[in-house]
Amino acid sequence: MFTVILLLLGAQAAAQQYDILLKGGRVLDPANNINTIRDVAIQGNHIARVAAAIPASEARKVLDASGYLVTPGLIDLHFHSYGYSGAIFPDDTALLAGTTTVVDAGGPGYRTFADFKKKIVARCQTRVLALLNIAGGGMVGPSSEDNVADMLPDKTAEVIRNNRDVIVGIKLAHFGKPGWDAIKRAIEAGRLAGVPVMVDQSILTNSGRTSRETLLDIMRPGDMKTHMYNDRQIEIISRFNGKVQDYALEARKRGVLFDMGHGAGSFLWPVATAAARQGFYPDTISTDLHAQSIMIQQSDMPNCISKLMLLGMTLEDAILRSTVNPAKAIHRFPELGTLGEGRSADIAVLALRDGTFAFKDSWGKKKLGTKKLENVLTIRNGRIVYDAEGLAFPEWTKAGNYEVIP
Ligand SMILES: [Zn+2]
Repeated sequence: MFTVILLLLGAQAAAQQYDILLKGGRVLDPANNINTIRDVAIQGNHIARVAAAIPASEARKVLDASGYLVTPGLIDLHFHSYGYSGAIFPDDTALLAGTTTVVDAGGPGYRTFADFKKKIVARCQTRVLALLNIAGGGMVGPSSEDNVADMLPDKTAEVIRNNRDVIVGIKLAHFGKPGWDAIKRAIEAGRLAGVPVMVDQSILTNSGRTSRETLLDIMRPGDMKTHMYNDRQIEIISRFNGKVQDYALEARKRGVLFDMGHGAGSFLWPVATAAARQGFYPDTISTDLHAQSIMIQQSDMPNCISKLMLLGMTLEDAILRSTVNPAKAIHRFPELGTLGEGRSADIAVLALRDGTFAFKDSWGKKKLGTKKLENVLTIRNGRIVYDAEGLAFPEWTKAGNYEVIP
């Protein structure tokens, strides 16, 4: 009898080859051209199988994902976890939004990277990558961010070469001094290390720099202009005729990427609406999430996606620009950004809600929309790390495997 039970248990274990099975969700995996009902099986920390019908008996834990969207874990190309005064911890901010990879946009510089790695990267379940600040001291205010003398392409490229597992590019941020030296040094470091450079709009603040065209001319194909719907310094939309500026169109044609970088100050309904009407959408959707933007604009990835859908972008396109495109921008595709079999099991399960929702911009204005994307479950590296609706929890019944002691 004992042998029989052992044999039966053995047979069951063999049949249950998967650890987690997401059943019946609408799988949206642009990299693999999938946009239909599929089951997704996870084994260990990777995606084992995506198919029309995987038997529930083959998995130890089965989650009913019907009615939900199942997408690759979202990739946030612009996040603040270190250095910046409003830095936030990724695990309790990104993971609950379905974001499994964040790219810290310029928190550490070559002098502070080791500290960032110890305090943030090593402590996070979230995959934390970084755009190394060209300023050696990182994003700690003007004393560092304006200090051209400490923007050293050689040193920066060396730290990148030694940490390619974490560093995926370079950031130039908040630079408020005259001249083009800072961006030129960032680009030179990018050339030496073979990585892209992301730049914000502050480079255009100072009157010593006379043209927006010059910045975009310096930027290479694959470099990224973030905060694209910020109208304060770079004017994507002409104030005279409401058209997308020729220099922006030309830069895009040349391969310069435009990143959303929502933040607290960089998403304006008038600019975004005019740009969207002319089809000038972000190549990559990103949050610029920090202490303020997470509380007031609540610009997490599902919020940014919802706003772009309100502007006319399809859900499929928005997921492409939140998974495949950012992975490509940091040269991590197809390692990241897909639900391909064998890939890291980083997954978001999202709900597309109907109702009336307020979507807030940075000038204190809101638009009301009727669709809102919300993350309900996150799997990171094969583990369920967020479960808002208890999808992984079997329903308790009195006849279940434990009872309340009276
Ligand atoms: Zn930022």
